[in-house]
Amino acid sequence: MNPELRATLAGLYQRCDAWQGADALLRRSPAQLWFRHRARSRLAVLGYHGIEDRSSFEAHLDRLCDRSAPVSLRQVEEAARGGPPLPPRAVLVTFDDGDVSVHRDALPALKARGIPAVCFVVAGLVGTDTPFWWDEVEQLARAGGTTDLVPPAAPELLPHTLKLLPERRRREALRQLRDSARTPVARKPQLTEVQLRELAAGGVDIGNHTLTHPCLDRCDDRQVRAEVLDAHRLLTDCLGRPPTAFAYPNGNTDARVHRLLGEAGYRSGFLYNHRLAHPGARHPLRIDRLVVSTRASADRLETILSGLHSTVFALARGAARAAVRSAQAIRRTS
Ligand SMILES: [Zn+2]
Repeated sequence: MNPELRATLAGLYQRCDAWQGADALLRRSPAQLWFRHRARSRLAVLGYHGIEDRSSFEAHLDRLCDRSAPVSLRQVEEAARGGPPLPPRAVLVTFDDGDVSVHRDALPALKARGIPAVCFVVAGLVGTDTPFWWDEVEQLARAGGTTDLVPPAAPELLPHTLKLLPERRRREALRQLRDSARTPVARKPQLTEVQLRELAAGGVDIGNHTLTHPCLDRCDDRQVRAEVLDAHRLLTDCLGRPPTAFAYPNGNTDARVHRLLGEAGYRSGFLYNHRLAHPGARHPLRIDRLVVSTRASADRLETILSGLHSTVFALARGAARAAVRSAQAIRRTS
């Protein structure tokens, strides 16, 4: 996908995502009944990031306790290998990136309800005050930073275009942005090793989310090994046991990554493709996940858990992609 199309689609997604008015209609539609029935035998792996709205997140958890069956990573990994099947309406709660709010806000809320979860951390950031690179890119662009490696884009869309670059060029673009910005970015406290151990002791398994969060399919072989295995060593040293679960940054992966994960003894790998998972139907290193924010309304959460939101989103994405492509074709011929 070219950078202009990618940036345009990212902007469309953000605007669509903010529009929750359709969720009430979808939730009350006949389609929701059918999707909800179908979802009974699927696994819903919820992929959160940080806790932007604690009270809304707690309402999500109460909903899961009432009408779903929260399961642990171990149950999912055993079921994926032919062990005991998961209960109907099984749901696994996961968090990507390891934002400090997972320890501060999610851990007590999960513990109070006895809900297990998984937190996939960017191992190279643990114990530092280094911001996530995509936040840094946006802040640098707002501070006048520029790069000639991608076409100009709005600051909030620039990280999306940088994700398309080979890893070496993405790092070079970040260097250019740092060199040209008027001010450095704000520091961001990350989870500490002590907090990782407290999460693990409190029922939140710690998973590997690479060393620095590149798109692994954009990395060369040496970078892939370092991102997967150096992170694996750091987390093993911190936790006293090796992580068994891996989440692919941005959902991007390839055969090299799967081979490495198999050699390192990983039992599960999680995508970020906004789909319900079929327990046992796919490879344990390619488990589907649903995209969700703690700000999601009760209506949206229902349509996400049923899989209806995924289907509507995929249709909208296909239509948006076709519209952008035809606009580009018209521009080229006029
Ligand atoms: Zn991530």
